[in-house]
Amino acid sequence: MDNLVYKNEKLSKYSWFGLGGFAKIFFKPKSALDLKKFLEKYNKKNKKIHILGAGSNTLFRDSGFNGVIIKLGAGFNYIKLLNNNKIEVGAATLDKKLSDFAKQKSITGFEFLSCIPGSIGGAITMNSGCYDYDISQIFFSLKGINFSGNLKSFNKDDVKFFYRGNNLPKDLIILSAVFEGGALNKREIESRQMKLINQKKESQPNKIKTCGSTFKNPQDKKAWKLIRSSNCSNLNIGGARMSSQHSNFFLNNGSATSSDIENLIEEVRKKVFLKTGINLELEIKIIGEK
Ligand SMILES: Cc1cc2nc3c(=O)[nH]c(=O)nc-3n(C[C@H](O)[C@H](O)[C@H](O)COP(=O)(O)OP(=O)(O)OC[C@H]3O[C@@H](n4cnc5c(N)ncnc54)[C@H](O)[C@@H]3O)c2cc1C
Repeated sequence: MDNLVYKNEKLSKYSWFGLGGFAKIFFKPKSALDLKKFLEKYNKKNKKIHILGAGSNTLFRDSGFNGVIIKLGAGFNYIKLLNNNKIEVGAATLDKKLSDFAKQKSITGFEFLSCIPGSIGGAITMNSGCYDYDISQIFFSLKGINFSGNLKSFNKDDVKFFYRGNNLPKDLIILSAVFEGGALNKREIESRQMKLINQKKESQPNKIKTCGSTFKNPQDKKAWKLIRSSNCSNLNIGGARMSSQHSNFFLNNGSATSSDIENLIEEVRKKVFLKTGINLELEIKIIGEK
């Protein structure tokens, strides 16, 4: 197997927070076959596995991860045009790349993906979206492999998406997906895409070390408003604080530890609960040893 296996790999470089300890093993398979062989061998020893996309929704703890982190390699980064406005895409492909590809092919429905800084695997897992669009609206089918090394396929009728999640098995590594859009001229797609990008720029900070929205929005409520109305916006712990532009965006100001971010999360959750009775649920994933 000509794959990349690293021991004691620093995780901070794989998370948008820029934080985290070391992974005992970090595996970057080049192909589905290599991944299958690895899983068949590795799973027998019954060790811990976590699958990582672009790390734009993941906080790794300071103590690292005492198992295997799998990050799909170059062989999972491709886009292929199929018939009837369908596009097949490898799970490691960045959302923005797919959005631009669909625009070039005059296929609409993918514009919102230009606003989400993750990979396709992450977008499906999180049912990512913005401004009334999300991945479920264009999803057609996917191929994956489970932690035992068995290949699996799912069609759109098999997968139930909900707000920032889906009902896929927890041990499924998404390898590729097919999405379906509609036909539209490129100029109109470009204009829709730019409108969303500008809307995002106005409402959310960029060029900061963050994983976007920390908490999910409770039904009919906005997490950022609850945080603000609970007098949390100016809280900070160590180098962790909230963006002044968007109080649900927690950030590392350059000197934070993962514990600072996690402690700030708990502090905000407590204050919001005391003030509103609402227990905010995490949107970001916190991975690693406590
Ligand atoms: C500045 C900023 C703005 C953001 N704006 C938005 C927004 O508007 N809307 C929104 O929904 N999100 C937003 N996010 C959050 C984030 O970009 C999305 O959740 C994104 O889809 C995560 O993708 P990722 O590849 O980075 O996932 P990761 O953070 O790497 O992983 C997230 C989850 O997906 C799983 N996963 C990743 N790849 C696979 C795979 N191949 N198979 C199985 N599971 C996999 C991981 O195990 C983990 O559970 C924003 C983040 C940032 C930093």
